[in-house]
Amino acid sequence: TIDDSAVRNITLDDIFISVKTSKHYQDTRLPIILKTWFQLAKDQTWFFTDTDNPQHQRQTNGHMVNTNCSDSHQRKHLCCKTSVEYDHFLDSGKKWFCHFDDDNYVNVPRLVTILQKYNHQQDWYLGRPSVNKPLKIFVKPTERPAKMRTSFSFWFATGGAGFCISRSLAFKMLPVASGGRFISVCEGIRLPDDVTMGFIIEHVVKNNLTLVPEFHSHLEQMKLLPLETFRDQISFSYSGPKENINVINVPGFDTRYDPTRFLSLHCFLFPHFKFCPR
Ligand code: UDP
Ligand code: MN
Repeated sequence: TIDDSAVRNITLDDIFISVKTSKHYQDTRLPIILKTWFQLAKDQTWFFTDTDNPQHQRQTNGHMVNTNCSDSHQRKHLCCKTSVEYDHFLDSGKKWFCHFDDDNYVNVPRLVTILQKYNHQQDWYLGRPSVNKPLKIFVKPTERPAKMRTSFSFWFATGGAGFCISRSLAFKMLPVASGGRFISVCEGIRLPDDVTMGFIIEHVVKNNLTLVPEFHSHLEQMKLLPLETFRDQISFSYSGPKENINVINVPGFDTRYDPTRFLSLHCFLFPHFKFCPR
């Protein structure tokens, strides 16, 4: 038997951090990540994209994966990337699978300390739902096998806030989700990748989402996050400037230079970083 403290003594190296991105964002969102939090988790973070970019491949020491999925925001293509992320996690042998979007900032040390509270040898699905009630879906008779129920109710973690899955749980999903099978489930229930993840975990594997409020997506009002709590949060996000601007309120660089506020956030958390003012 393994001593409980040994199980929990996980480090950054036990985590597989995957970031979904696209060629549409390689010149806007990706450079901000590469300049900031990626520097604290270079060996543990992998990007799942839809293009080959030699410059980014060099900058990430070969951590850009061309999924060969289409570069669109359609359900099928986003599910395709998530499916590749999951398969790469299985191959990595790591203890935790943590997914983020490319408009997330990941507070790397905090991600590690929060995961230390959970045993990766047990089944854990950690994240933050976008609404305070479970999602109820109805599957049309023509779209389900004869014996399948007509409706399902379940919680899912918003992909845009990030979520983590323990190895033990990821293993139980193997028969339904591995080797690209995840895409078939997405297509079967006709729902986005993060919803499909929740569906598989709650209805196929029969585990529940554990609410971890330290994950944040731009579905929340970012400016309402208090500065004093930034250190405790796992992830942050932003939207705009093309859509409605939704950014955290943090002092630092000029908003023209740092519209997403992620450079300022990084300097707030890690003031000794090379690009931070001193
Ligand atoms: N994305 C993608 N291909 C696309 C559009 C988006 O892979 O054509 C990725 C994007 O990089 C991000 C995630 O999907 O990681 C969510 O996209 P976005 O933030 O633009 O949309 P949201 O779902 O937050 O409205
Ligand atoms: Mn987004």
